Amino acid sequence: MWTCPYCGGSHGLPFHDEQLDGMLCLSSDCGRFVEEHDTSDDPRDWDAMDM
Ligand SMILES: [Zn+2]
Repeated sequence: MWTCPYCGGSHGLPFHDEQLDGMLCLSSDCGRFVEEHDTSDDPRDWDAMDM
């Protein structure tokens, strides 16, 4: 289960586009976007590390 690192809430909405990849906290007191970097299957990340 996903847990917000800011408020500890567990209500999150997955959000993905070209620039952002993570979860949007749905807690009314928080509402922050939490980026996730633990997806290791994106080849673009590995290309950047080789530079
Ligand atoms: Zn939160």
